[in-house]
Amino acid sequence: MDATKLHAIDPAPGASGGARSIPDVRELLFGDLWPYAPAPERNVWPIAERYGHFLDGEFVDGDGWFASVNPATEEVVTHVPTADAKVVDRAVKAARSAYETCWRDMPGAERGKILYRIGRMIQERSRELAVLESIDNGKPIKESRDVDVPLVAAHFLYYAGWADKLRYAFPGASVAPIGVAGQVIPWNFPLLMAAWKIAPALAAGNTVVIKPAETTPLTMTRLCEIFVEAGLPPGVVNVVHGAGATGKLLVEHPGIDKVAFTGSTEVGKLIQRALAGTGRRLTLELGGKGANIVFDDAPLDQAVEGIVAGIWFNQGHVCCAGSRLLVQENVADALLAKLDERMATLRVGDPLDKNTDIGAINSRAQLEKIDELVAAGRDEGADMHQLACPIPERGFFFRPTYFTGVTQSHRIAREEIFGPVLAVQTFRTPDEAVQLANNTPYGLSAGIWSDKGSKLFSIAGAMRAGVVWGNTFNAFDPGSPFGGYKESGFGREGGRHGLLPYLEVTG
Ligand code: NAD
Repeated sequence: MDATKLHAIDPAPGASGGARSIPDVRELLFGDLWPYAPAPERNVWPIAERYGHFLDGEFVDGDGWFASVNPATEEVVTHVPTADAKVVDRAVKAARSAYETCWRDMPGAERGKILYRIGRMIQERSRELAVLESIDNGKPIKESRDVDVPLVAAHFLYYAGWADKLRYAFPGASVAPIGVAGQVIPWNFPLLMAAWKIAPALAAGNTVVIKPAETTPLTMTRLCEIFVEAGLPPGVVNVVHGAGATGKLLVEHPGIDKVAFTGSTEVGKLIQRALAGTGRRLTLELGGKGANIVFDDAPLDQAVEGIVAGIWFNQGHVCCAGSRLLVQENVADALLAKLDERMATLRVGDPLDKNTDIGAINSRAQLEKIDELVAAGRDEGADMHQLACPIPERGFFFRPTYFTGVTQSHRIAREEIFGPVLAVQTFRTPDEAVQLANNTPYGLSAGIWSDKGSKLFSIAGAMRAGVVWGNTFNAFDPGSPFGGYKESGFGREGGRHGLLPYLEVTG
């Protein structure tokens, strides 16, 4: 059986680049003899048809209801309302009142107790949160279960520990909370981005109004239930739903003291312009085009695992994805042969199946954006290599793909694709690797693969990127600061550094 014929890549009209299918080895070897048996996780937790905003400790109905869709099935998951200026104002007032009447002056140890409780309750409800996250977002259950939700709990527990030790975080200085934080987050890690924003803000004594992304509102409603059960006073965290217009109302509301935004560079720039001159604090966590650099002395099998984790984790919907592979020329063929073998084992499909490696693209709009950039890669002359695996007929899916023959002028080398698509370039010397890696307007992440510790350190020092991984990729810890250079934004989340944007530090 010739799998390349079975799953031939559609010819791209006018494309000058080549296209090659990488056969799905499991289908070739075992397809008829040993058919695949799915192992899906079941959802036993009810999902209501509608969830309101969360204002002053209660779910509140609103207007302009819109649907959140399961990207793997295209079925409606639930509905949430759109917050207008009145609702945003009500949320900001609730946060201000909670700040002034209880949270700011509550002893740190008491705030910490509540945050610890939230962290433990997230752990207790981890299976439910993971299943709901995969349904609403499309990410594989093994990632929501083993990465997202454990990190969400870890962030609350980590910052719970700081709540009564703030004056030791910045020795010799006195610290005070700032007030009300307005936070806007994207859809790629809905719960985790919420935890990155809410946990440090609360630990430092601030109150919050947060807007989840319009395509992934579901798990935030569960987090609100946990806040209530954990005894978080009403108004300390408020949630307003809606799309960009609601986000704009929130970040520009005069009652907000500090804005924290995670999302695209394009929107980040708009927010920075809008806030210029207002004196309000701002941190921006924006896009990326991270380089994953493999030197010829690297352990190639490990590097292949790092490349897979770098670009195919979470369908490539990762701001710090290693979306540019820079490989030393003399090992490029060997590395790509190993990558083909590894790629051929990836399973694309039902996010709730415990064996799925690559789930659904979060929305039709995102799938169209990936399609557009992949077509541009082929039109501009790069060679596409794509796994010839079956994908579900319904839902938004994209096969893992990489491009060779990529030059710096290609869009796929410069623009953030935010999908499971890797651009491969080669280099000859360490200086050339550094020059290529830094040749981007972004500066969020980089990975370096080498057997030589001294090389790892010297190249890491030359990277204009906020996070640099050595012989690993996409490894996260709440104690480790995360953030960007250049057009990837400014400010840090995580660690002691992540407290700084939420504190007035004097002396
Ligand atoms: P996006 O900028 O379109 O939307 C992000 C959030 O901003 C959403 O909640 C959206 O409703 C809201 N929004 C849209 N327009 C707004 C406006 N004018 N004012 C205020 N809020 C507005 O981005 P996206 O497509 O949802 O997310 C993907 C992007 O996020 C990628 O570029 C990715 O790299 C980035 N991201 C960065 C990090 C990081 O830590 N640096 C983490 C995750 C995602």
